[in-house]
This record gives sequence, structure tokens and C-alpha cells, in this order.
Amino acid sequence: MRDHEEAAYTTMSRALLAGLLTPGTPLRETALAEVFGISRERIRKILQRLGTNRLIELVPNRGAFVAAPSLEQARSIYEARRILEGGIVGHLASSMGPTTMDQLKDHLAAEADALRRGDRAESVRLSAQFHMILAEATGNVFIMQQMQELVSRTSMLVAVYETANASQCACEEHRDIFTSLIGGDGAGAAKAMRAHLSLIETRLRPGAVAPGREATEMLKELWAAEQITPDRSTEKSP
Ligand SMILES: [Zn+2]
Repeated sequence: MRDHEEAAYTTMSRALLAGLLTPGTPLRETALAEVFGISRERIRKILQRLGTNRLIELVPNRGAFVAAPSLEQARSIYEARRILEGGIVGHLASSMGPTTMDQLKDHLAAEADALRRGDRAESVRLSAQFHMILAEATGNVFIMQQMQELVSRTSMLVAVYETANASQCACEEHRDIFTSLIGGDGAGAAKAMRAHLSLIETRLRPGAVAPGREATEMLKELWAAEQITPDRSTEKSP
């Protein structure tokens, strides 16, 4: 049952991160319980988790809604990220250990692979993770907390406003940052990071909001497809 709840959470977060659910759409517990075949209590837990990760908005007494970030918010979020992350990579260039270097190298390979497979939800997830690996490498819990919130909010912005193939160059931009970092060039890494974040910001398209689809219908389809392809669900051992 725990696996079932986890699978339902994964389906929902992937749909949200792929920009498949129209921003502002209500997500009703009863309908979702029916789609996923689990109790309303479990659905509520999933919604809480999605809310904590900023993929949906939880409004007291009104319920859950697909997050609908405004472009004004987007500007503030990217400005905060340029200031914070320019500082993070500047700092890391002179203090990064071999473990982080290996981790980043593996990560870039995974990003390239997701891009090749055309898996957009996975690309968005990995893009966010690249920035979190850098934040974690500082070993500073306050930086990590700030970054967690900013990165989650950005993932939804990208899902909602970015056109499907626009994220293609992001992978190379990450590589530029990495190259400066391994070269110990703090100023270069900071510059590459700020340029990267500015580029993502300019790729946001106010008109690119996903076409209206009924959220429940969409999730029902995705969930059904997920049940047919068992490779993503956890295998039970006898
Ligand atoms: Zn990035």
C-alpha cells in the first residue's frame, strides 16, 4: 500500500513537472482518491507533500490547486538565485572535493541521457538536482534550505512557462559551470552561473501555458499508462 501511495505521488509530481496540468486547476481529494484507488486520507498526505515541494498550492478552507506562479514572482526568484548561486559556485571553486566533482560528472551524464530520451519531466528534475548538488557541497544547512525552496519554485515555473524544447541548451550551460569549477576559476563559474540563470529566465514564455486539460482526466490516463508499463513500479520480492 505504501508503494501504491508512492507511485501515485510520483505520477502526480511528474505530471506537474512536465507542465501537463493547467496552473490554478483545483485538485479534489475525492476525484483523486477514485483515480488512484486509495483513501482520501492518503491523497491528503500526497497533496501535503506536493505542497511542501511547491508543486501545488494548498489554500486553507479551499483545497489544493496546481501552482500558478506569476511572471513577477519569477523575476524575484531568478534574481535571488543569481545572487545566491553566483556566491555558491564562487565559493566552491576553491573548496570543492573530489567526491562532489565525481557526483557532478555522473550527473551531467544523466542529464544528457534524459535529454536524448526526450524525457521532459526527468530533465526538469535533473536540472533542479544539479543546483542542489552544488548547494549541498557547501555543507551549509541555511544555504541548502534557501536553495530547496527557490529550486522547487523554479521547477514549477519552468514546467508552466517553458516551451518543450527550450530546455535543450541548459545541459551545456551546466557543463560550462562545471568546467570553470574544475579549473578552480571562481569568477568564471559565478559568471557562467549568473548567465545560465538569466538564460532560463529569458526562455520563460508567458503564452506557453499548457492547454486546458481536465486534471483528473489527465491523471487517470497517466496512471493507466503507468500500470501497463511495470518497469517503473517496485518489484515485490517473494
Ligand atoms: Zn541549471
